Amino acid sequence: MKDACAFLGESSARFTASEITTHGRARALDGDEARLGVVDDVFYATMNAPVPGAQWTGIVTSVAREMLRSGKVDGVICVGSAADDSRAPEPVLATTDEEILATRGVKPSLSPNLKVLAEVEARGIKKLLFIGVGCSVSALRAVEPYLGLEKLYVVGTNCTDNGPREGFNKFVNAASEDPDTVMHYEFMQDYQVHLKHTDGSYEKVPYFCLPANDLVDVIAPSCYSCFDYVNGLADLVVGYMGVPYMDKPMDKHPQYVTVRNARGQEMVDMISDKLTRTPSTSTGDHRQFVMQTVIADDEAKLGRGPEKPAPRFVGKTIAWILTKIGPKGKSFGFYSLDYHVIRNYIYVNRVWGSKRASEHVPEYAKQIVKEYDVDGAVSARLKLRLPSKSR
Ligand code: FAD
Repeated sequence: MKDACAFLGESSARFTASEITTHGRARALDGDEARLGVVDDVFYATMNAPVPGAQWTGIVTSVAREMLRSGKVDGVICVGSAADDSRAPEPVLATTDEEILATRGVKPSLSPNLKVLAEVEARGIKKLLFIGVGCSVSALRAVEPYLGLEKLYVVGTNCTDNGPREGFNKFVNAASEDPDTVMHYEFMQDYQVHLKHTDGSYEKVPYFCLPANDLVDVIAPSCYSCFDYVNGLADLVVGYMGVPYMDKPMDKHPQYVTVRNARGQEMVDMISDKLTRTPSTSTGDHRQFVMQTVIADDEAKLGRGPEKPAPRFVGKTIAWILTKIGPKGKSFGFYSLDYHVIRNYIYVNRVWGSKRASEHVPEYAKQIVKEYDVDGAVSARLKLRLPSKSR
């Protein structure tokens, strides 16, 4: 596991090799795959009967339940809640429908999913479904040949800017007027964080009203060095990053589904009669907003962001204007992806130095960085202060 970790050694080369083993090919470096990873199919989808208590409409939970019910797997690694803290993640090996259902909903902090693998072996599970974010999936792929499984299916979620459990409290204390009742939150395409409370109500806080200077440490250092927002090694990925906000609550809102290979398709087929699918859409040019966000974020990280967040009505107005003129759908997803890639590229170069950063950053990410000339003119002009060797 130490050798397999996504954040150690020549992880870029290892990632590409794993992509080929998993999907039969590496992602194409031209077109959408450079950002989305290997793609057989992409669409928006909603469960016709949403799973009560799920994060969105419960596509992930529904796939897991059907996989177990049909006997395609005999166990599912998923993430429940700690016994004494419903918002703290606790990975489990679920072998009944009730156990899977109990894990619905995101507990938004880092979860050590791989620790359950020992239990898989001990309980003699041979057909496994693993649910997890990109960093745990890439480590899982590295040890896959040694697990002695007859069949492994992987449902991934998109993931970015995860963090330690304490980070969740710090974030909701800063964002919400009633932090103790926040169960879930998502950064939506209307430039607002939607916080879902235990009574089912939603609170919407514009991004610009968050105290950016105070929140830099809620994100884990590993997430600042991650280039796998899209979970490139999962068979099937469910997220929301490429879906325009459709003015409905999360638990009725379409999601973004990426099928990477035949196992992914097999899993979608298990619930296709319970899903409404719509095609993916994309409008607006994401590129013009990316570097502005990178710079604003960098200033905040260096403690030079606005002293106070924008007042609520100003934040709401900015969010409203950006929703009118900014990118939407897949293009918004690409805005978010490019921003994270560039931000993290700057981070690993600063913290690790250019040699280690170069071994770590995958080719597809380097290509995105080049598109914005981050190493050259942009870095100099914007004083991003990359170490000179990274040029
Ligand atoms: P549900 O049916 O409610 O199922 C949720 C599943 O998440 C469960 O199976 C559970 O096992 C698993 N889970 C719960 N907590 C964790 C955890 N801490 N780590 C790993 N798995 C967990 N999508 C984006 O588009 N952009 C993002 O930035 C983004 N960030 C995310 C960060 C995290 C930590 C997680 C877990 C997911 C993130 N997602 C993101 C995906 C999104 O929030 C939903 O998880 C996904 O769309 C599935 O929705 P659903 O209704 O089908 O989930």
